Amino acid sequence: PRPVVAIVGRPNVGKSTLFNRLARRRLAIVHDQPGVTRDRKEAEAIVGGRDVTLVDTAGLEEAPPETIAGRMTAGSERAVDQADLVLFVIDGRAGLTPADEHFAAWLRRKGRPLVVVVNKAEGRAAAGGVAEAYALGLGEPVAISAEHGEGLGELHARVAELL
Ligand code: GDP
Ligand code: MG
Repeated sequence: PRPVVAIVGRPNVGKSTLFNRLARRRLAIVHDQPGVTRDRKEAEAIVGGRDVTLVDTAGLEEAPPETIAGRMTAGSERAVDQADLVLFVIDGRAGLTPADEHFAAWLRRKGRPLVVVVNKAEGRAAAGGVAEAYALGLGEPVAISAEHGEGLGELHARVAELL
């Protein structure tokens, strides 16, 4: 079966922009649990030279399970549990937030193969964000601009090492 690559991170870091850049063909989602899988998107993509199923998620937030944000987070958790590789996206311009650090700790406990992706790094605006991301201790971050298509060669190379 195709390896599953899940894109996770707090809202607004550029997960869907990265998903759209990498996606080749959208896959229909089977709604086995209405209201839960609803906001998950999957696509066929070539990442790191491999034919993978790429999963976009609604975003990780610290929120009680009965809230919309909590259900989004539950969707992200399911995606992580099913993933062969996780792309943990942070916003290199905003720098690390407490929410990023919270979810970095959570992902560390999950123990899935993972790449820290520092997005919005076009024009070296994210140099500080890259240093902060490195300090998470989740491996060497890859700086990209999902919007401008920069750094993707390096991202593919890192994925190829891990898949
Ligand atoms: P998501 O909530 O994590 O899925 O984030 P989105 O993909 O919806 O993007 C959130 C915002 O960040 C949008 O306004 C995007 O245009 C912007 N964005 C995404 N990627 C980049 C990037 O590489 N550079 C910059 N400057 N903005 C980006
Ligand atoms: Mg999104």
